[in-house]
Amino acid sequence: MKFLNSIFLLTAVAVNSVRGEVKYFEKCINDGDFAITFDDGPNLETSNKVLDILDEFDVKATFFVNGKNCVDVRNNKEAQDIIKREYNSGHVVASHTYTHPSGGITGLSDDELYDELTKVNELLDELIGVKPSFFRPPLGEYSESNLKIIEKCGIKANILWNLDSEDWDSSYNATQQYIDGLEGKDPYTHSFIALNHDIQKVTANKNLRIIIPYIKNLGYNLVTMDVCTGIPAYQNGKTVPSKPKVNDDKPNNDPNKDFVYENPQYLSVNNNTNNSETNGTTNDPNGNAKGTGIDSTNSVNSNLNNNSSDANTLKSSLMFTTAIMSLITYLLL
Ligand SMILES: [Zn+2]
Repeated sequence: MKFLNSIFLLTAVAVNSVRGEVKYFEKCINDGDFAITFDDGPNLETSNKVLDILDEFDVKATFFVNGKNCVDVRNNKEAQDIIKREYNSGHVVASHTYTHPSGGITGLSDDELYDELTKVNELLDELIGVKPSFFRPPLGEYSESNLKIIEKCGIKANILWNLDSEDWDSSYNATQQYIDGLEGKDPYTHSFIALNHDIQKVTANKNLRIIIPYIKNLGYNLVTMDVCTGIPAYQNGKTVPSKPKVNDDKPNNDPNKDFVYENPQYLSVNNNTNNSETNGTTNDPNGNAKGTGIDSTNSVNSNLNNNSSDANTLKSSLMFTTAIMSLITYLLL
């Protein structure tokens, strides 16, 4: 029996090593944390507007950038300056492939995927002196066989999402997506990774200004991906230039809480229907993303028990009032 157990353990270790060590997140590890993320940039028309708004609200976010999507970054100084501004402002810069392949990465050969990822690594290393730890696969899809290449390129975690603004699709109201996605949730029991696109006008011109105060008023702590996952933002261990503010009042700082931390076997090209970007049906040449939000369930925070009921009632009332005010502002716009 011991012999059989040993065989089983050896087999398990072998399978793990084949699958690699690339982690997977669709929400943050700590309840109360909320990571705003942007894909598909830089874009010369909209990315700086997004950065202006983030500055205005003193919020740090995460940008999953391409090398040659809206603009050929290598041959465009303005685009290079956008990435430098993102990094120097304290946002996290992450990888979203070099060219944003229209069919995602599951159809790429190992060599093609390696090329997509190393080109982003090299570009960012030249521009800002770091290689990214985080990767978001276009369309939100990747296969088991992709993982070994992703790991080979130094990526530490694939980042998906559990709240989708659908800002690329005019048939959706991006603000309403946030309101619906956050309804019935609270920072004591939930965390979020929200998908947006800094190449979308609705995000740059309208949505961010509404949803940032809305999220803050609900009591969430807006964080970058390194804080969200507990993993350094860059492969050489470098952190962001200026660390985002950490809200000491957030409900739980226990890093050992339950969180998604696995290689998702269910995410493959054939069966991933629940959490997929898609640009195959859109005529947008920029490979805008679409995905359906995934609800996530976290454990109840035991710290809640330490708060007095009066304080909780007062805080809840304030949160409710400010949330309603934000909603009214949104409806009036
Ligand atoms: Zn994308």
